[in-house]
Amino acid sequence: MMATQDGEREDSGVEVRVIGEPIGKGLFATQDFKAGDVIFEERPLVSCQFLWNAAYGYLACDFCMRSLETAQENASRLAQNPQLSLPFPECCDTKKDTFIECPSCDASYCSRECRSSAWNQYHETLCLRSYMPDPSHPLVMLQEAWKQMHYPPETACVMLLARIIATVRQASDKEGATALFMQFCHRTMNEEEEIAHKLLGQEFQEQLESLRTLIEKSVWSSEVQQWLTPEGFRSLVALVGTNGQGIGTSPLSRWVRNCDNLDLSEEERKNLNHLIDDLYDQLEKEAGGFLNNEGSGLYPLQSSCNHSCNNNAMPTFPYNNFQLVMSAVQDISVGEEICVSYLDECNLGRSRHSRNAILRENYLFTCKCSKCEEQTGEPDVTSEEEMEEDDDLED
Ligand SMILES: [Zn+2]
Ligand SMILES: [Zn+2]
Ligand SMILES: [Zn+2]
Repeated sequence: MMATQDGEREDSGVEVRVIGEPIGKGLFATQDFKAGDVIFEERPLVSCQFLWNAAYGYLACDFCMRSLETAQENASRLAQNPQLSLPFPECCDTKKDTFIECPSCDASYCSRECRSSAWNQYHETLCLRSYMPDPSHPLVMLQEAWKQMHYPPETACVMLLARIIATVRQASDKEGATALFMQFCHRTMNEEEEIAHKLLGQEFQEQLESLRTLIEKSVWSSEVQQWLTPEGFRSLVALVGTNGQGIGTSPLSRWVRNCDNLDLSEEERKNLNHLIDDLYDQLEKEAGGFLNNEGSGLYPLQSSCNHSCNNNAMPTFPYNNFQLVMSAVQDISVGEEICVSYLDECNLGRSRHSRNAILRENYLFTCKCSKCEEQTGEPDVTSEEEMEEDDDLED
């Protein structure tokens, strides 16, 4: 079954409010939160691992993105060191005895529940029904076409589109399922065009049409044809482009977390911390920033959180799966809007001018948050380095 939609809830500590154009809606606190508190947790309506991430051997459950490696396997693979050995193996929570595969293709799952959830939601439509898929199968061609358009770092995945369409196609209440996804659509045609263009690059018309044709061949049915017209497909691309939330899962970070709770002497703790620091240095040397199983998903509550450069909340994935936990990073009072940052930490540290160049390019808006308002009097550019980067952004 699909994850249920939370929407507006009275007793959850948050509510979605319509706040008018151009922003549309926002999420507001209905109680006080302290920094560090969990504001809400939610599962995505649909999610998908990125294609290069999967191709490079980051093994994840095809439904919930839980890692299918032990912390030890994960660390050895990332460090490219088969000899690497982690202490405290009891701190790894990977339980391989529940892993299970689709009987008809090579999709792997962390549990029987995930396998049947995937099958019932979209996999019955998308299963390749072969362990050696035919390269001319439209779904195989779709994934190859996307990979050629999108080298890492990945930010989106065409299979998320296929899963959305397949979810509607398989839903017993097709109108209800369509409505769940339509709540993410609030863009004009021109904006959709711009977002699709941004996502698909220079030759986007042609690329969009080739992706659309391949998806149409894979999942067409009369109930989903609205998504498969050129306009419908473009709005789906825009929907995923602006609402897709990145997901990162890692058995190694679970191991580190569990190690933090071990009862150790001061000396042992010091040694362990040292080992973990060394390990991450090694991993970063070999794997760069690519430490996690990565993908993206659509989350109704998270997607109603607006951006602020002085954000008071942050999404995290502490369970090594797609379950999103929105945590307060500042104290939040009842009535206050809950805002996340669409910019990563590095970009958040840049000047107002640079931040807004990125926000305009990727999200089509200019930020008016308290930090941006405070900085309006400041010079546009703070360093030569940023000026060069800004030129790149505006090219
Ligand atoms: Zn799973
Ligand atoms: Zn299958
Ligand atoms: Zn701002």
